[in-house]
Amino acid sequence: MAQLPNSLEARDVAFQLHSYADARKQEQTGSLVIEKGEGIYVEDVSGKRYIEGMAGLWSVAVGFGEKRLVEAAARQMEKLPYYHTFTFKTHGPSIELAEKLIEMAPVPMSKVYFTNSGSEANDTAIKLIWYRSNALGQPERKKIISRMRGYHGVTVASASLTGLPNNHKSFDLPLPQILHTTSPHYRTMKKDGESEAEFARRCAQDLEDLILAEGPETIAAFFAEPVMGAGGVVVPPDGYWQAVQPVLKKYGILFVADEVICGFGRTGNMFGTETYNLQPDMMTLSKALSSSYQPISALLINDTVYEPIADESHRIGVLGHGYTGSGHPVAAAVALENLKIIEERDLVGHVREIAPTFQKRLAGLADNPLVVETRGIGLIGAAELQHPAHSDTPGSLGAAANAAFQENGLISRAMLDAMAFCPPLIITDGQVNDLFDIAEESLKKVAASL
Ligand code: PMP
Repeated sequence: MAQLPNSLEARDVAFQLHSYADARKQEQTGSLVIEKGEGIYVEDVSGKRYIEGMAGLWSVAVGFGEKRLVEAAARQMEKLPYYHTFTFKTHGPSIELAEKLIEMAPVPMSKVYFTNSGSEANDTAIKLIWYRSNALGQPERKKIISRMRGYHGVTVASASLTGLPNNHKSFDLPLPQILHTTSPHYRTMKKDGESEAEFARRCAQDLEDLILAEGPETIAAFFAEPVMGAGGVVVPPDGYWQAVQPVLKKYGILFVADEVICGFGRTGNMFGTETYNLQPDMMTLSKALSSSYQPISALLINDTVYEPIADESHRIGVLGHGYTGSGHPVAAAVALENLKIIEERDLVGHVREIAPTFQKRLAGLADNPLVVETRGIGLIGAAELQHPAHSDTPGSLGAAANAAFQENGLISRAMLDAMAFCPPLIITDGQVNDLFDIAEESLKKVAASL
């Protein structure tokens, strides 16, 4: 990439350390500087337009340039730009949003705790689970189980929940109390001759074996995304959740549904919890909660979780936890307006309408010889690439496809060699076709170049 000495690209490399990048490589290649966005599109500083096939980071549900969110933020900024929810203080937007989320929750929930990112929501969930175990006089019940390939964030505890090597390597993680069970990815995890139904049952058996090996009285909670996102878009096999949930019930283990990606329509229901008939005790929400126009996340807890925590805070005299930005009024006001838009425009109904085209076109990518598997549900999906003749360095095909997509005006995300698609929920049928036309053409070029 040609760079002028004072260009934004050059200054970016000079001054910024990026997430999920090889810093040395970035010093050479530079960065893509995005300047503005409208609907499902974003534009870079040179004026080139892209379909944002990832809705940013799985999050811009209502699309870019939504004026109602800008106005909601401006109104709140004028009135009360900041206040907190520490001690016995609060403010209107956080109250209204908490009430709204409890009303929307697909299973009975009783309280909302606001945080600023998905990582913080999951981190807070872990802390409250530990606090609760102590409150119940079960100090040994502190271990937490999540799954290989699950993604729950990057703070010390949430990165430990995340079941991906790159989030642990050289960070001295995971924490010892956090354990990982089998990932529900049938194609790579199945044993010879194992049917999908048998595999789903084995995943539940693996979970139970881990619980028994560790001692059921030491296991506090199980964290899972209804559909795995950043670990490669892993849609659970049929029967998976029906087999896993009774295991948790049997040993009195709390179930935390990480709805950070699935929440607010992505899978064709308001929550992934509804799509898979889950019974979580806690839910973490972020991303589409505000369409990422403002950083905000929320942890919902039911009475089983709340009651002992309330008792413990009373015994100690304070719940010693809280973030300066928890329930930030501008973020809460934007989230409320965003949820209004999602409901008024029936974006969940819209996802159901568009999903067949999206899933059909995604499945069509398998006509390319590089694509070994496509998987998805609603408006989320991935195409896994693998060279038919030889094995490449993991991630190299993904990087090549990513570059070809970008060249042709489509932003996707390569999770090693799985190309993810997770566009804004407002995408139209015609735009879904545009997106996959570009993906198809780009993959043809990559295949031809090998
Ligand atoms: N949980 C899930 C399911 C996620 O997809 C993510 C982010 N991709 C997180 C948690 C962490 O959220 P954040 O990046 O806001 O910390």
